[in-house]
Amino acid sequence: MQAIKDIFRIGKGPSSSHTIAPKRAVELFIKYNGPCKHYDVELYGSLALTGKGHKTDEIIKEILGDKVEVHFIYDLDKETRNIMIIKGYDDEDREMVWRVESLGGGAIKVDGIDIGDEKEIYPLDHICDIKAYLCDEGIDILSYILRYEPDIIDHLMSCIDVMCASVTRGLSKEGLLNKRLNVYRSAHYLKKEGDMKGDIDLKRLAYAYAASEENADGGTVCTAPTLGSCGVVASFVYSSLYDEGYTKKEVAEALAVGGLFADVIKKNASISGATGGCQAEIGTACALAASAIAYLAHEDIEIIEYAAEVGIEHHLGLTCDPVFGYVIIPCIERNAVAILRAYDAVKLATNISKYHNHSVSFDMVVNSMNYTGKKISPELRETGLGGLALEFKEED
Ligand code: SF4
Repeated sequence: MQAIKDIFRIGKGPSSSHTIAPKRAVELFIKYNGPCKHYDVELYGSLALTGKGHKTDEIIKEILGDKVEVHFIYDLDKETRNIMIIKGYDDEDREMVWRVESLGGGAIKVDGIDIGDEKEIYPLDHICDIKAYLCDEGIDILSYILRYEPDIIDHLMSCIDVMCASVTRGLSKEGLLNKRLNVYRSAHYLKKEGDMKGDIDLKRLAYAYAASEENADGGTVCTAPTLGSCGVVASFVYSSLYDEGYTKKEVAEALAVGGLFADVIKKNASISGATGGCQAEIGTACALAASAIAYLAHEDIEIIEYAAEVGIEHHLGLTCDPVFGYVIIPCIERNAVAILRAYDAVKLATNISKYHNHSVSFDMVVNSMNYTGKKISPELRETGLGGLALEFKEED
């Protein structure tokens, strides 16, 4: 299993696979090949189909300026994966070509070059094996993580700063978010209602909206496990610090535990909407948040696992159908619903466990998620060609 650190990447919205990954790809291309006088970048799969709404061309031009032409190759039949072909031409017009796959959460794979994104550092890939190891070694789950990633807490402390800043910015803004969709920012109003009524759920909805609205607007946010789903965990972090009074270190440790569960999903299923539908993004974010909430409440490993399992199980089959390719409808509202679902998952797991064991393990539900993701048709995997996206028509 790969580093938990890579579940949490900092970057500009609105989509880790469509903004962080292409940015990293072109930056690495320059690093390996040197600067070129001209570039052509071809985008395939969902990178082409939702690339405009996801600002993929904008982020590439931010790096390469007017030296680049970005081509959207719309051919769902031929290529359903998120592929970029980067071509660079030097002063003698010699061509250098990279074929890059965006894997989800900002990770990339470059054909023929090991850039380290697929490096495995954890020896165990399933929660059942990790639990057996904890038992044999007599250690807790955080100690297990620190054995393999001793610097993870420092990294997560920086991520917490970015998450909180995104929530704070989002709460302070009002007005139009997207003209074409006629969507206005809502975080500010939800927070006002939450404060007025003393309603923690409304406040958590507001925090999820705030980070997600910032993401949709191209602001700097943190993946958990993706940018499209960044509002779920940002809400948990902000609420834990400012409503519940936990310390930053305590929250960082809880994030490490939640990150382990997300990492198991990344290894055995997917965290990419283009590969597994929205269950892979929002479902994983919900499981990450649920396990972190349970850890923070000092629940044992069985309850933590149960909460994470509930977080995924009730997102199984969730499709990815962003309207006009923007990470706005249904994404922002979906982040808000998922954070409340994460708290409910912990409540359910804590109370039912007093009476009997749960029947579905986390590993079982991850296998099921992988199976289900493969059955979801390409139209419903971040292409903007199916589902809710079909209900919206351009207005004159
Ligand atoms: S529908 Fe879900 S997976 Fe698709 S872009 Fe929105 S948040 Fe990401």
